[in-house]
Amino acid sequence: MVEVPAAEAAEPTAADWAAAVAAVRGGQAGGTVLLVCHVNPDGDALGSMLGVALGLRRLGITQLQATFPGATAGATGGGYAGPPEVPEPFRWLPGLDLVVPADSAYPAPDLFLCFDAASASRLGALADRLDTAGAAVVLDHHASNTRFGGIHLVDPGAAATSVVAEGLLSRLEVPLDAEIAQCLYVALATDTGSFRFDMTTPAVHEMAARLIATGISPGEISRRIFDTRPFGAVRLYGDVLQRAQLEPDAAGGVGLVWTYATLDDLARHGQKAYVLEALIDSVRCAAEADVSCVIKQVGPAEWAVSMRSKGAVDVSRVAVALGGGGHRLAAGFTGRGTVDDVIGAIRAEL
Ligand code: 5GP
Ligand code: MN
Repeated sequence: MVEVPAAEAAEPTAADWAAAVAAVRGGQAGGTVLLVCHVNPDGDALGSMLGVALGLRRLGITQLQATFPGATAGATGGGYAGPPEVPEPFRWLPGLDLVVPADSAYPAPDLFLCFDAASASRLGALADRLDTAGAAVVLDHHASNTRFGGIHLVDPGAAATSVVAEGLLSRLEVPLDAEIAQCLYVALATDTGSFRFDMTTPAVHEMAARLIATGISPGEISRRIFDTRPFGAVRLYGDVLQRAQLEPDAAGGVGLVWTYATLDDLARHGQKAYVLEALIDSVRCAAEADVSCVIKQVGPAEWAVSMRSKGAVDVSRVAVALGGGGHRLAAGFTGRGTVDDVIGAIRAEL
């Protein structure tokens, strides 16, 4: 596929929407449809994917699977039986019954849709479907999207991929119901930081109004996804915030605040990696720094890095330079080596 520089990325054209609708209508004629979201899925990735999956099911598509890189089969017998890689706060989402282990996903689906992935690498081994699928539709909102599919519904102006997802569902004339709305609301609330960030436009609130009008409970959803963690996570945050460091002179004088969490920290408190997703929100409070950063160990010499900016620094530029991506005010990448190596690389880019 032709790679278009991210700077040229614009919102989807009428022709893009028409092509996507036609591709789905083709899938309705008995084909196999595979939906995939990015590795380590967050609320926007899962919510957008499952919202569209439920919509396609409403359209009568029966050969329908959803998955993400690394998804394995869940434990059976009592309670949640989906992929263990779905973070606990999202395990109640409607549509999770459509999620299959990554290695049993259709190898050559008639239609492939992917969600919230800025580049093919975010799809892991499932990126091979870009070549084997009959049609590949990319739904995303990252300005850094590399336009790696066949049909691109990429809107850098959208607050979340779920905004694009709702646009597709409405063009498919799928009415919003409470299940679809729960998925899309989780996605919208996740990426707008609970409607706090600047991308919380009138259109975002109008979309939230349409979703809430289906009868969903925003308070209950927020409590589940943002405000519910095991007690051990509270103690873990204590340890990790205790070692936070402030470097007022970093980033050209606008300041950097950062900390890190190791696999040993997680093990000591009996916690899973997902509990660290919100850690950046505690770190970025520090008024003395424009840039904040959390370095989360995922392997012996591998770290998932989250970066945030209050506006003076474009952290997506730093993340892209270090092999990742994201947005101006929120970005990330995979770091290698020691914590010192990773923070050293960030300091140098800043
Ligand atoms: P978070 O810090 O919440 O995990 O991610 C913030 C933003 O950075 C998200 O929009 C996400 O897409 C992007 N991001 C985080 N980690 C990576 C990464 O390893 N690679 C890429 N390409 N983007 C990332
Ligand atoms: Mn997103």
